[in-house]
Parts: sequence; structure tokens; C-alpha cells
Amino acid sequence: MEWNPKTELGRKVASGEITDIDKIFADGLKISEPEIVDALLPNLESEIILIGGSGGKGGGIRRTIVRRTTRMHKSGRRYKTSAMVVVGNKDGYVGVGFADGQVSKTRELLEKCSKKAKLNLIPVMRGCGSWECRCGTPHSIPFAVDGKCGSVEVRLMPAPKGIGLCVSDEVKKLISLAGIKDVWCRTKGNTRTRINLIKAVFDALRKLNRFKVPEEYREKAGIRVGRE
Ligand SMILES: [Zn+2]
Repeated sequence: MEWNPKTELGRKVASGEITDIDKIFADGLKISEPEIVDALLPNLESEIILIGGSGGKGGGIRRTIVRRTTRMHKSGRRYKTSAMVVVGNKDGYVGVGFADGQVSKTRELLEKCSKKAKLNLIPVMRGCGSWECRCGTPHSIPFAVDGKCGSVEVRLMPAPKGIGLCVSDEVKKLISLAGIKDVWCRTKGNTRTRINLIKAVFDALRKLNRFKVPEEYREKAGIRVGRE
């Protein structure tokens, strides 16, 4: 794919001067071209979060890729669709992209979401903070962390090896793309609005990075940030 970088950071990545994405995060630089992420993390995968859905006949919710919303306008109804995509390498990096667009252009909309997800990419702090496990490998998270979006509050908690991801299906896509294999999750609020639920979990993952972890605990819990 042809890429003409528009930013200084983009040019440094395209020329091979920067080859490590961790340097970008360590220097606190802003990624404003999705191609930077494509170049530095070539094995990125993506998943569509099913944020749409209506109460279908016979109970249960039929989940769909796009969420359609209607608002009234003086000339009639206006329709809008929105979608959400998660990207990650299953090894310490994940991003969430949410966007809206015109009805009937789903492919373009998903492309827009995926680009946004790359620009929102974060390194994920992994480790083993489970007192039942204490294996010192990065299969879970190093400590419990809270996240919030709208009315939704979540708490992610370290789980011992083999427990798996004790979360709902859509949250599972995000957590597994981040490279976390075992975790517990407690939720509060209106978790049926999956947009806020996913954003709250992403908020929690982002908050993990803000903790200043003492060196001795880093080693004991096998903490890794990104792929360091
Ligand atoms: Zn463990």
C-alpha cells in the first residue's frame, strides 16, 4: 500500500528511523496516522463489536454490526448508523474505534472505525496479580482496576491461570485482542448499552498504565507493558 506520511512521526516510521512502537508511547508522542500502527505492528487483528440490535420476536436481542438511530428533522426522519471496531495484536496492544456515518455505507463506516481504533492504540500492562496463582507471568493483569463510561462502571480483577475471560462476548473480543488470557470483571450500570460497556473496559485498561508500580512488585507479578 502506498503511504505518503503527513506527519514528522509518520516520516520517521516510513524511513525506518523509528522501528519500535514503545518508543512512541515512551516519548508520549501522538499517533495521527493509522499507517504508523500498520507499519510497526504488522500482525494487528481486528474485531467488530456488535453494538446494534433490537428486541426481536421470541425474546432475546438480535445483535447487529451497526446501530441505527433516528432523529426527527423538520423535513422528516434522519437516519444515522454507528459502529465500533477493536484492533489489537493479542500481545500487549489494543485500541477501540467508534464512529458514525451514513446509512448503507457499512464498509466505509467500519474502515473509519478501524482507523480510529489504531489512533487510539494503547500499550496494555499485563502481569499476574492473583494471590491464588502467583505464577509471575503476564497472563492476567497485575492488580484490580476500575473503568467508567456514562452510567457503566467496571472493575477488572486478576484471575488465576486457566480461569479464562469471565466477561461478556463483546468484552471478550477487546480483552483477548489486548493479550490478556485470564480475568474477572464486575459491572454496574446499564451494561446493555454495549458502547459504554466497551469504552468503560478500555478506560480500565488505560488506567492500568497510570499506576506507578514498585520495582520489586514488577518482578514478582511478572509485569509487562506492551511487548517490552
Ligand atoms: Zn498467574
